[in-house]
Amino acid sequence: MADGTGREAYERARKAVDTGRFEDAIAASEEAHRLEPEDGPIRELYVGLHLARGVRLSAAARDLRRQAIVERNIPVGEEFQDTDTVKAAFQRALDAFDAVLAVEPDNEKALTMKASTLHRFDRAGRREEALGLLRKISDAHPENRQVRLVIKKVERRCEECSDSGFCPHCAGRGTRTVLRIKGKCERCWGQGICLKCGLL
Ligand SMILES: [Zn+2]
Ligand SMILES: [Zn+2]
Repeated sequence: MADGTGREAYERARKAVDTGRFEDAIAASEEAHRLEPEDGPIRELYVGLHLARGVRLSAAARDLRRQAIVERNIPVGEEFQDTDTVKAAFQRALDAFDAVLAVEPDNEKALTMKASTLHRFDRAGRREEALGLLRKISDAHPENRQVRLVIKKVERRCEECSDSGFCPHCAGRGTRTVLRIKGKCERCWGQGICLKCGLL
């Protein structure tokens, strides 16, 4: 177990995890994985860290989008386009899941999270891609009822939010102004996402 050429980088990655230095941990795990791609514990750490990074980046991209909507003051119902910064943030999250899938093509968590990120990012443009990933899980695990429900959800257009994915009550802002007082949108708990389709 991790006693070859990648050992030193592996130990460094573990130490960085223990002391909460996430980026150092990622870098060291990549180094260890490059040196010993076949080693089990090294791969496990690499996969775990990249999954965590993807989950974190996917949530951050969604937050960034909400902030951008607020800053640009986009009116309700107006055609919405992500800024380049928001697009790049989603792409970084997708890259993290792709790093996992390059090593473990059948990793269920990575397939699920990548599908969910595609659905958040650009559901009109990348719906088929997201469904392809989910069907891959479903084919491998016919007993998985959860993934079948998610597939049904992704296949359908959401009427609640006109399939935009944004909370229809605050138009994705996360806040509402009632009697000139600005407060957190109670329908989406300030997240700005449609709760009917957004919680994948
Ligand atoms: Zn919706
Ligand atoms: Zn809301």
